[in-house]
Amino acid sequence: MFNTIIIGAGFSGLSLCLNFEIYKIKYLVIDNFQQNNFYNIINFPSYNNISNTELKEKIINQIKNINNNFNILKDNIYKIIKKKNLYYVYSENGEIYKSSNIVLSYGYQTKKINIDNFDQLYESKHIVNNLNNIDINDNNNIIIIGGGDSAFKNIEYIINSHKNINIFLICRNRALKMQTQYIEQIQQHKNIKIYFLSKIIKIENKVIEIQSKNQNYKINYNYIVNCTGISINTNIKIYVKNKVKNLIIKNNFIKTNKNYMTNIKNLYAIGILSSPQYQQIINCMHTGFVVFENISKQNKNKTTYSYY
Ligand SMILES: Cc1cc2nc3c(=O)[nH]c(=O)nc-3n(C[C@H](O)[C@H](O)[C@H](O)COP(=O)(O)OP(=O)(O)OC[C@H]3O[C@@H](n4cnc5c(N)ncnc54)[C@H](O)[C@@H]3O)c2cc1C
Repeated sequence: MFNTIIIGAGFSGLSLCLNFEIYKIKYLVIDNFQQNNFYNIINFPSYNNISNTELKEKIINQIKNINNNFNILKDNIYKIIKKKNLYYVYSENGEIYKSSNIVLSYGYQTKKINIDNFDQLYESKHIVNNLNNIDINDNNNIIIIGGGDSAFKNIEYIINSHKNINIFLICRNRALKMQTQYIEQIQQHKNIKIYFLSKIIKIENKVIEIQSKNQNYKINYNYIVNCTGISINTNIKIYVKNKVKNLIIKNNFIKTNKNYMTNIKNLYAIGILSSPQYQQIINCMHTGFVVFENISKQNKNKTTYSYY
C-alpha cells in the first residue's frame, strides 16, 4: 500500500520522486519505457546543451544518491479503480497496486497512424518517431508521414547529416503546415518527393502503398518516421464506483485546479498533460513540486519547504 502511485517517469514524475525521497513518503513510480524521443535541450538552466536522456539520467542519479534502491517499475497501466478512498491500479503484468493518491505524469504520446495492424508494425523498429538515434545511410529511403514541425525537424536532420538520402514526404493535406522558409529549405534537398492529399493504404514487407491525388504509389522504405503529432494517452480507463469516470479534458489537456488536482479527488495530472501554455521541461518539473506540496500536507507530520 502506497501513499501515491506516479504513472510516468518523465521530467514531471521524476521531480515528484525526488521530493518524495527527500521527505520519505511511500510511493511507487511506474513507466512503460515506450517513448523513444531523443532531442537536445538548449534552454535548461545550467546546461548549454544536454540531451533529454542525459538530463533524465542525471535526475535519476540524484535520486539514487538519496535512496540507492530507487527503481522505476517497468509496466503498463491500463485501468484505475477508486473504491471509497483507495485507488487500485491495474497493470499489464497482472499486478494490482493500492494507493491513496494517483499522479498521472505520462506526457503526450505520438499519435498512432490510422492503419490496420499498426501496433504490430510499430514493434518492427522500422517505424520510429525520430531519426536522431537511428543508424541511417545515404542509400536509404526514408518516409516521413506528416507535415508539421516534427516532420521538418526530421527532414532538417537528414539534410544536415546525409545529403543524398531519398526522402518521401507524405502529407494528408494540400499544404504543409510548415512555415514557408522551412518548405524552401527542404525543397533544396535534391532527393525529396512530396505527396500531397495522400492516404496510406498498406504497409507491408517494407513497402508502403499510398494514394495521392487519385494515383497509387508503392515505395520501398528503410525507415518510416511517424510525425503525425502527439495526443493525450487515453488508454488508461478510470472507474469510480464501478462506472467509467472521464477526466475533464479542455483543448486536449487534462483540466486541473491550481494544485493540479483533476475532477477526481486525489487524482492529479502533472507535466505536459495539464500545462496548456508552458510545455517546457522546467515548467513540467514545477508541477511535480506543487503536487508534492499538496500531498505532503495531507500527512501532518511531514514538513514541506519553508524558507521563512
Ligand atoms: C522533439 C522534442 C523536443 C523538445 N525540446 C524541448 C526543449 O528543448 N526544451 C524543453 O524545455 N522542452 C522540450 N520538449 C518538451 C519536453 O519534452 C516536455 O515538456 C517534457 O518531456 C514533458 O514532461 P512530462 O513529465 O509531462 O512527460 P514526459 O517527459 O513525456 O514523460 C512521460 C513518461 O510517461 C511514460 N508513460 C506514458 N504512458 C504510460 C503508461 N500508460 N504507463 C506507464 N508509463 C507511461 C513515458 O514512457 C514517459 O517516460 C521537447 C519535446 C519534443 C518531443
